[in-house]
Amino acid sequence: MKTRIVLSEDDLPRQWYNLAADLPTPLRPPLGPDGKPVSPSMLEPIFPHGLIEQEVSPKRWIDIPEEVRAVLARWRPSPLHRAHGLEKALGTPARIYYKNESLSPAGSHKPNTAVAQAYYNKKEGVKRLSTETGAGQWGSALAFACALFEIECKVFMVRISFDQKPYRKIMMETWGAECVASPSGETKAGRDILASDPGSPGNLAIAISEAVEAAVTDPQHRTKYALGSVLNHVLLHQTVIGLEAKKQLKKAGEKRLDVVIGCAGGGSNFAGLAFPFVYDKIHGAKMEIIPVEPASCPTMTMGPFVYDIGDASGMTPLLPMYSLGHTFMPEPIHAGGLRYHGMAPLVSAAINDGLLKPRAIGQLECFAGAVLFARSEGIIVAPETSHAVACAIQEAKKAKEEGKEKVILFNLSGHGLLDLKGYQDYLAGTLQDHALSREVLAKNLEAIKDYPKPEPVGAGK
Ligand SMILES: *Cc1c(COP(=O)(O)O)cnc(C)c1O
Repeated sequence: MKTRIVLSEDDLPRQWYNLAADLPTPLRPPLGPDGKPVSPSMLEPIFPHGLIEQEVSPKRWIDIPEEVRAVLARWRPSPLHRAHGLEKALGTPARIYYKNESLSPAGSHKPNTAVAQAYYNKKEGVKRLSTETGAGQWGSALAFACALFEIECKVFMVRISFDQKPYRKIMMETWGAECVASPSGETKAGRDILASDPGSPGNLAIAISEAVEAAVTDPQHRTKYALGSVLNHVLLHQTVIGLEAKKQLKKAGEKRLDVVIGCAGGGSNFAGLAFPFVYDKIHGAKMEIIPVEPASCPTMTMGPFVYDIGDASGMTPLLPMYSLGHTFMPEPIHAGGLRYHGMAPLVSAAINDGLLKPRAIGQLECFAGAVLFARSEGIIVAPETSHAVACAIQEAKKAKEEGKEKVILFNLSGHGLLDLKGYQDYLAGTLQDHALSREVLAKNLEAIKDYPKPEPVGAGK
């Protein structure tokens, strides 16, 4: 009876997998404000060449530099766990596995890309990185990576989290980064918001605007920008998760996989686990692949497939994605990392091609699942991760009803030891579900109605 399936350091993948090479419908390009495709050179003020190359690469496999593998080896390959405790608690015939990404120094999957991004910036002489963070997971991951590669790090942290979650900020400062609340008075984007709403709680889209502006307006041109999710190169870096999981399932003796699950905010941890299996699905494997989002921020299940900007003020190109409109202000749910109006273009394209089946779950059911998981498996997961846990529980219950021995895999994207307020509210019975109304959605989509539209395609294979 295998419980924890581990690989040796030699099994750490040597290449990342790029789904763009295999999508049935080619990825649509990002567009500039004029509606024309953005050329790679237009991204040069904000990203180093190494990352731009990956962003637009059609190659299926991309080599992982040895310097990056050497750092990842500090906690990778991450273990794959068989959830015997949860299976027993549910009385399910399903075999449930989870990939444990909570063991990185920052406590989530995010260092997988932070390390790669810091490496390419360092290699090209960048002295400083600016970024945004919601609940602080990405900011702390980048702060960690910048410390290792000796780059300065500046983090714009969404105001509401900055005030409510001081511990992530302390982690960032411990790793040597500087963290300010967003909207801040340091950028035009921030000052404009503060002028109209001095008490603004901020959101990710505003913080992205500030971080990009801080990079492009650096008078000494020594700053670049780093994004923790959404973009193709970020999802690419996360595929070590799924590539390892494939080897581990084989080692556990599994011959097939029925369900793959990940929570999705910008889409990176989901894609990291799922894309190597999407490859199998494109090539005929029968399996259900489910990105899970909060019912209060239902980008994939209620949003249309459109072109929208990735931030609040149009500092980013127009991206082809499912979106609730960039003016959307999600309810202040505890899964801060899932409160984003858009979805990664690669994940969006795979949905549009019929390869994925998105699902939305309310936060009460998510926390109930997370508490059951803590009491049966021991790990207290991040509020974001609770969406994957809740979906795995739904699928395990379904397998029980159908009397099927299904194999279910989900990504444990991070631990929740610095996000206990959500658990406190849930246990006290004060947590609420929020649904998005059609009226509010329509109002937000009004703001992007004149943007170019992605040309329609039929559902994929
Ligand atoms: C940031 C974060 C997420 C959401 O981001 P994705 O890019 O969608 O993966 C999910 N889980 C944890 C633990 C996070 O820190």
